[in-house]
Amino acid sequence: MEEDFDRELKVLVVGNGGVGKTSMIRRFAKGIYTDEYKKTIGVDFLEKALFVDELQEEVRFMLWDTAGQEEFDAITRTYYRGAGAAVIAFSTTDRASFDAVAMWKSKVEAECGEIAVALVQNKVDLVDQAVVSATEVETLARKLGLKLYRTCVKEGINVTEVFVYLAELNQRKQ
Ligand code: GDP
Ligand code: MG
Repeated sequence: MEEDFDRELKVLVVGNGGVGKTSMIRRFAKGIYTDEYKKTIGVDFLEKALFVDELQEEVRFMLWDTAGQEEFDAITRTYYRGAGAAVIAFSTTDRASFDAVAMWKSKVEAECGEIAVALVQNKVDLVDQAVVSATEVETLARKLGLKLYRTCVKEGINVTEVFVYLAELNQRKQ
């Protein structure tokens, strides 16, 4: 029998290398986490079906990871095509990743138009190594008009919430 999903949503997870994008996708789609850092080679994606209470429907999330070439502006058009939502992620411990957020937002908008976007500050467990203040993060989120989520992918904190929000926002935009 063919599976009948109410809705399919392609979600991009963008941001500088090392912020936890691959870990976030694996955590959400499979519920697993490892500390080892393998640079993602090529575009990769995982699927996750989730019944979203707020929408009263099952959403099939198609989670697209980047090519691990985040630094070189090398992401292909195929990556962006058909996306309905995007996570823009940075790390609490990586200043450059925070400074790159506006650039990532522009890139997503240029390729995808006005899709649903959320700003994610990952690695909040490493607060003692923080290089961005809570205030400047909130200021940037407000300036860019993005809802901010603070996640700890390592412990699985606030991860599902991000994707549920994107599914809701995507529906509101349709
Ligand atoms: P990507 O390059 O953005 O795909 O980043 P990865 O998912 O490969 O993660 C980079 C490193 O950060 C890996 O060693 C992960 O285990 C680690 N990492 C990811 N999320 C967290 C987190 O919430 N807390 C901590 N402490 N480490 C994390
Ligand atoms: Mg990766």
